[in-house]
Amino acid sequence: MAATKFLGKDLRYRNRDWLYARYIDEQMTTQEIGRLIGAGHSTIGEWLIIHGIPRRLGKAVYATDRSREKRFGKRNPHWRGGEYRNGDGRVYIFQPDHPGSWVTGYVARARLMMENKLGRYLRNNEDVHHINHIVDDDDPENLMVLSRSKHSSLHAKERSARRSVQLSCQP
Ligand SMILES: [Zn+2]
Repeated sequence: MAATKFLGKDLRYRNRDWLYARYIDEQMTTQEIGRLIGAGHSTIGEWLIIHGIPRRLGKAVYATDRSREKRFGKRNPHWRGGEYRNGDGRVYIFQPDHPGSWVTGYVARARLMMENKLGRYLRNNEDVHHINHIVDDDDPENLMVLSRSKHSSLHAKERSARRSVQLSCQP
């Protein structure tokens, strides 16, 4: 059984069913849940993402589509916690109601983390860059939003900088 307390902190939000009941069934806000257990609303927001629970952003309420969940979600025998790791290491979360989801219903966890931090959806031409280049480190501190063109020129610059370091290190 997962621990619900750690160093006196209430960690019930780490349990998907508990958080789902508060956020979806009882329609509590992240602020209300945070107050209930003495955590920040952004912590609750991050755990909604980790658990693959659909977010309500601002006034845009995305009701959970129960029949869809039955087909693809928790009650589906192939459900594996609603996340998968791509070949390149990136983590995707099943969130079919998200306006930026792929046809498969998945959204990159990095994008969800950034949207949670900003409080708005990202535009299609906005990329999320991993500052330490570890693509499954989706801690909001490790993420920054860049336009697609700025993002690719940053990577090009970093590649050529690495090349020149390697060259100068040649014996
Ligand atoms: Zn990048």
